[in-house]
Amino acid sequence: MAEGNGVLIIGETLGDELTLASQEVLAAGRKMADDLGQELAIGIFGDVGGDIAQSAIAQGADKVYSVTSPMLADFQVELYLAAAETLCKETSPSIVLIARTNQGREVAPRLAFRLGVGLAQDCLEVSADAATGRLLANRPVYGGNAVAVVSCNQTPQVAAVRPKVYVPLEPDASRQGEVVSFPVDLDDSIVRSRVIEVVKEEAEGVKLEDATIVVSGGRGLGGPEPFAQLEELAKLLGGAVGASRAAVDSGWVPASYQVGLTGKTITPDLYITIAISGASQHMAGCSGSKAIVAINKDAEANIFKEARYGVIGDWEKVLAAMTETVRELVQ
Ligand code: FAD
Repeated sequence: MAEGNGVLIIGETLGDELTLASQEVLAAGRKMADDLGQELAIGIFGDVGGDIAQSAIAQGADKVYSVTSPMLADFQVELYLAAAETLCKETSPSIVLIARTNQGREVAPRLAFRLGVGLAQDCLEVSADAATGRLLANRPVYGGNAVAVVSCNQTPQVAAVRPKVYVPLEPDASRQGEVVSFPVDLDDSIVRSRVIEVVKEEAEGVKLEDATIVVSGGRGLGGPEPFAQLEELAKLLGGAVGASRAAVDSGWVPASYQVGLTGKTITPDLYITIAISGASQHMAGCSGSKAIVAINKDAEANIFKEARYGVIGDWEKVLAAMTETVRELVQ
């Protein structure tokens, strides 16, 4: 049986809300805590007010540690890490979960190192074995060609969960939980880096990761120009444009368009792929799509194994006809 007790989430906030990724981890953690018959706690860092704590409870937490210090007003990695390390050491959870966001990617490996344990990185699924108390984590290996089930034999067992693979729980305002004030003493001299400026990426229209409809293009488009036609279709559908890594690596679209293992994970209702072969590393980022519609001239392309609807043909003809039909329908 694993030592320690309870599942602890290292929470992430944006303004006065818990990030969507942390809400997703709450859903994963709730199930694990129930399976283990243990408590689910979340650490919320900075003086963020009671509303966040209450919403965390409504979304599954039994306990909220309000980790406070005047130095935690903004995210600064060394200070945040020191606070997270203190929280983990003083509360002794058996499992620590963290969302694998940009912030989580900075924090999770360093936190695991400070706790003297390993890290299950980029988990597509996390569960708990009630008999042993062990965390079981599914994570991609061999460049996304296989999924390994990892079990940790140290305590706490730390896992970073990929965003967009869990759905946050519906808030239940009647849920009861405890809010525990957890002041930490931090020393400014540990700070090695400072954020000088935060530049928000300007993106027109719907964000790729939030879009319910995504139209993505691949190498078979042959160049950057056809993406204008994808933009046109996406706009008509109220969706966003994505791309395969081949299209991004060719410099046709920015890296922020990339869907896949080393790009964004998306879970739209409708995913239209145009001239994309459907490599496993691409599918790793879109397999949660409710319906995939593929256009590809090669009937043997892997994407047709994953797609609900497929059109075998030259994208130029098919996309033009599809866009025209959608235009007629929406006007
Ligand atoms: P291709 O595989 O070259 O496919 C192009 C397709 O276009 C073909 O199926 C072809 O039949 C079709 N086509 C050509 N002309 C036409 C036409 N006129 N009309 C219709 N169809 C046409 N890839 C990702 O996408 N995202 C990732 O995050 C990612 N991460 C990776 C991480 C690692 C560690 C590794 C090793 C690879 C990763 N890749 C990723 C790359 C991945 O393996 C593939 O190489 C990539 O997805 C291929 O992109 P593609 O489908 O656009 O190109």
